[in-house]
Amino acid sequence: MLGTMDRQRSLWAWGWRDKFPDDAARAGLVQLARALVPTAQPASRSLPPDEPEVAPARVSVPDPLVTMSSQTSRDRAAHSRGRAFVDLVAGFAGDYGAPPDLIVRPRDPIGVARVLEVCDERGFAVVPFGGGTSVVGGVDAAAARGDHPAVVCLDLSALAGVLEVDTASRLARIGAGTFGPRIEDELATHGLTLRHFPQSFEFSTLGGWLATRAGGHFATGATHIDDLCHSLTMVAPSGTLATHRHPASGAGPEAARLLLGSEGAFGVITEAWMRVVPRPRWRASASVAFRQFEHGVAAARALVQSGLQPANARLLDPNEARLHRVRFDGSAVLLIGFESSDHPMTAWLTRALELARDHGGEVVAGPTEKTDAPEPAVPAGGHDEAPTEAATWRQAFFDAPYLQSALLSIGILSDTFETACTWAQYPELHAKVTAAMQRALDEECGGGIVSCRFTHLYPDGPAPYYTFVGALRIGGEVAQWRALKAAASEALVQAGGTITHHHAVGRTHKPWYERERPPLFGDALTAIKRTFDPRGIMNPGALI
Ligand SMILES: Cc1cc2nc3c(=O)[nH]c(=O)nc-3n(C[C@H](O)[C@H](O)[C@H](O)COP(=O)(O)OP(=O)(O)OC[C@H]3O[C@@H](n4cnc5c(N)ncnc54)[C@H](O)[C@@H]3O)c2cc1C
Repeated sequence: MLGTMDRQRSLWAWGWRDKFPDDAARAGLVQLARALVPTAQPASRSLPPDEPEVAPARVSVPDPLVTMSSQTSRDRAAHSRGRAFVDLVAGFAGDYGAPPDLIVRPRDPIGVARVLEVCDERGFAVVPFGGGTSVVGGVDAAAARGDHPAVVCLDLSALAGVLEVDTASRLARIGAGTFGPRIEDELATHGLTLRHFPQSFEFSTLGGWLATRAGGHFATGATHIDDLCHSLTMVAPSGTLATHRHPASGAGPEAARLLLGSEGAFGVITEAWMRVVPRPRWRASASVAFRQFEHGVAAARALVQSGLQPANARLLDPNEARLHRVRFDGSAVLLIGFESSDHPMTAWLTRALELARDHGGEVVAGPTEKTDAPEPAVPAGGHDEAPTEAATWRQAFFDAPYLQSALLSIGILSDTFETACTWAQYPELHAKVTAAMQRALDEECGGGIVSCRFTHLYPDGPAPYYTFVGALRIGGEVAQWRALKAAASEALVQAGGTITHHHAVGRTHKPWYERERPPLFGDALTAIKRTFDPRGIMNPGALI
């Protein structure tokens, strides 16, 4: 088995290069895909060359940055874009567009400030880069070009590690470039955890999570990274800002809230104090099946409005249950999990199951409670440690991004989009969105599948997450995907949902975000950007 340091990430596909399925596995996938999408004619296509060809850099490395810069073809290709479906398509075609002219890896916040100073003097655009898992064009070097003489990718990976732990206050100071598994490994030595597990956990960073307001997959309670952030430090072209270190403060608007979700357009987040918790000792869980999805929706609402606060409550519609290998009988499934480091949770689970039964649910796995069971392995992190269905779902959840790349390589398009809306809006939004997507799939792919799950639940509404699958139009993939993405985004916004619950705005969602955002707030954001970044070098075109 290869150690992490020996492993290379794929240049174009999701994750580790050595985890991409070999030819035999792809042939097996072709058979599966025929059953999944009968209108498609999947076939193994040849994979892109491993040595990328990229256009020459437009500038040489400025002297003050020599010791921290790279201009190798592989490095520039690997930092050219994120991991949206269109990025996978371009990478699969061996097209790295206009990659960054140089990659810089400062080793501390002073180095970050130096990079910004040098770039500001020269008018170079700067794209902060965490793990590069953006699905909204947030790290798209070509799109950041504009009239800038060079694009500099500022890779945060050297600003890594858990730097300080305040156990009395349950806080940890963590470098922005730290990837999910390292955060959990280092906190575990203190018996602590951040418990933030986005699907991209293995390949995304704390700074990226803060800059995009990422959503972890605990479905209620503290789910957004915002809730876990105590304070953060940002280095901008005009100076450095560390937000206050109080548990709460009523002294004017909250500075940290202003920087969260700034997507690299204001400056570079270098570190943050994060709220951490003891690792859970008790985990109680069960799965409930519903003959009708609507009944599962009603049960999910009752659960999240009950005040029980499950650590996980995830509703899968019948297509989603099938795609994730959880159930094949056409029923919807609600996975429920409670956790605590302090007390058993069976009483809470028992009441949750009563609520689910009130709405026609049938308990199909559990209830069980485990004490001091080992944590599930990374990248599964602390997801619902539960009976078969939840465990199956969890494995399928973390395998899904690998599957998406493998499906692309046999001519199948699969992608996701997400939103949040009130409970009152949900039935109409769901009907409109699924109808619009089915129409778009019929037109663009000759048919396909749309599925829905609730990734997060709030007392005032759910966060529905949609997956769509269809046949890829070889040669016209980008136009095809753009048409599907536009149909989804238009349907969401017209039905009153937000353009994104946790995938961020980046460049892809910007036209719809600008419709959703009050114009006066847009003006305020522009003025704030001007204060932090007077020459407009920070991630040009993203968010603002
Ligand atoms: C398969 C897959 C699954 C995903 N699952 C989830 C999920 O469950 N939940 C979720 O919320 N998102 C998810 N995402 C989206 C993505 O992983 C998140 O947006 C994540 O927060 C990005 O982190 P990153 O370190 O990869 O940031 P990057 O992709 O490198 O950057 C994202 C944005 O943040 C900016 N940025 C990065 N680091 C910094 C910094 N230190 N300072 C300032 N700006 C910075 C970049 O310029 C860019 O605009 C998923 C993406 C993929 C491909």
